[in-house]
Amino acid sequence: MANIRNQDSWVHSGEPEQATRKAMDLVRMAVSKVGLLNPLPEIVVGVQQSALVIGGGPSGMTTALELADHGFPVHLVERSNLLGGQARFLYNTWKGEPIGPALQEMDARVRSHPLITLHMESTVTDAEGFVGNFKSTIQSPRGPQAVDHGVTVIATGGKGYTPTEYGYGTADRVYTSIEFDKLTMMGDRRINDAKTFVFIQCVGSRELGRMYCSRVCCTHSVQAAVQLKEQDPTREIFILYRDLRTYGEREELFKKAREKGVVFINYELHGKPRVTQLDPRQLEVVVWDHILHEPLRIVADAVVLATAIVPSSANADLARIYKLSTDADGFLLEAHAKLRPVDFAGDGLFMAGLAHYPKSVDEAVAQAKAAAGRAITVLSSDRIGLESTKATPVLANCDGCALCLDVCPYHAISLVEEATAEGSRSSHIQVNVAQCKGCGMCQATCPKDGVYVAGFSMEQITAQVKAALAL
Ligand SMILES: Cc1cc2nc3c(=O)[nH]c(=O)nc-3n(C[C@H](O)[C@H](O)[C@H](O)COP(=O)(O)OP(=O)(O)OC[C@H]3O[C@@H](n4cnc5c(N)ncnc54)[C@H](O)[C@@H]3O)c2cc1C
Repeated sequence: MANIRNQDSWVHSGEPEQATRKAMDLVRMAVSKVGLLNPLPEIVVGVQQSALVIGGGPSGMTTALELADHGFPVHLVERSNLLGGQARFLYNTWKGEPIGPALQEMDARVRSHPLITLHMESTVTDAEGFVGNFKSTIQSPRGPQAVDHGVTVIATGGKGYTPTEYGYGTADRVYTSIEFDKLTMMGDRRINDAKTFVFIQCVGSRELGRMYCSRVCCTHSVQAAVQLKEQDPTREIFILYRDLRTYGEREELFKKAREKGVVFINYELHGKPRVTQLDPRQLEVVVWDHILHEPLRIVADAVVLATAIVPSSANADLARIYKLSTDADGFLLEAHAKLRPVDFAGDGLFMAGLAHYPKSVDEAVAQAKAAAGRAITVLSSDRIGLESTKATPVLANCDGCALCLDVCPYHAISLVEEATAEGSRSSHIQVNVAQCKGCGMCQATCPKDGVYVAGFSMEQITAQVKAALAL
């Protein structure tokens, strides 16, 4: 293929004459390569038509149910002794739907589904294999168990940041938003009888060390404020925020809160609110109002901290076991944010929910369905064809120096030791074709022409370079 569209006419649309000369170069290069092409063998591997889903929160349960409802056996692994994850502590979705009953229904369906094998109080401790052919070890209180599966979905969630600021843990009546929801669900008098509430946004978020936005917190506080006002319109509610991110249709909640008299006060990082306990029932919150240019003093019955969502430590462990990537914050990293948003770079590995990035329950469930859909593309056949452009060792040149092992991003290359005819030992590389993506890092690194990517041999590339330079 001479890619004269993407690599030429699109990028040089303002320079038609030079683009035409470049098109001629590209065609000449392609022709010079064609003469040296060899047929590439078709690579087909068998598929174990079952799945492993790690994490029994809303995302993991949704993926497991979707897969099982499509007829594929699923092993669902949950670390704790309860299903439901963080959502167990949430009162309702941003649309006002109660979360508890939906979770109970999911829990019951998962436990009774004939195709779901539930491994409670269990974790995955080891794994090997590749798309269609994974073998993972599940450690449960009954001991280790090896399971074969064709795809893996990671849905291990996240957790709330534990604040050290704003009097949390030392002052009475300072709660995280999750604790606020718990108390609300229990009908606790500390919430029911309170008249003045202060919500502080971005606690542990969007500052050095954790620069990302946790996405759900603004909506949660605004929605809670609306509910508190609806229960008792005489209540005074203050939301201290940096940037209010009630995105999409959630903006309606913000408008509603304004209409009901919720007071929004903007604060900056350099003028963070200060919380002091006045007596066991009351707190003083002082915040610099940069519009009035003076400090505001609020006497509150409850302070609610909208805390950051942080990644689970499980991400790092599973990244090591399944050779996955994580981002700088420790969340799981997708293969491509737009083109492969629920896939890992390695085939047959998918992600869903909070483990990927902070997101609300409805977004987590939607992503879990997407992950199930992607997994089904692998599971729906007992064989899967792989790309033929794979790293190919040249044993005559490879002396087992292993430089390529370090650069391979897919961990597809390993070293094999063999006895030679003379009785000594020699080593050379071998490539797992199911894991190799044909990226060419090994070929570019090898100083001895000990490996090349089929379809991109040194001979073929050199011919193209010569054609480009018209040598
Ligand atoms: C502080 C906080 C506040 C939130 N506020 C809101 C809100 O107001 N509104 C909203 O819509 N959403 C909110 N969310 C997000 C909501 O909780 C999630 O979208 C929802 O729970 C879906 O998450 P999940 O299933 O991906 O992960 P989780 O709910 O975290 O579930 C993950 C599950 O995986 C299990 N697990 C972890 N590691 C392992 C392992 N190694 N092996 C096996 N199992 C493992 C955990 O025990 C857990 O059961 C909040 C989340 C947090 C942390």
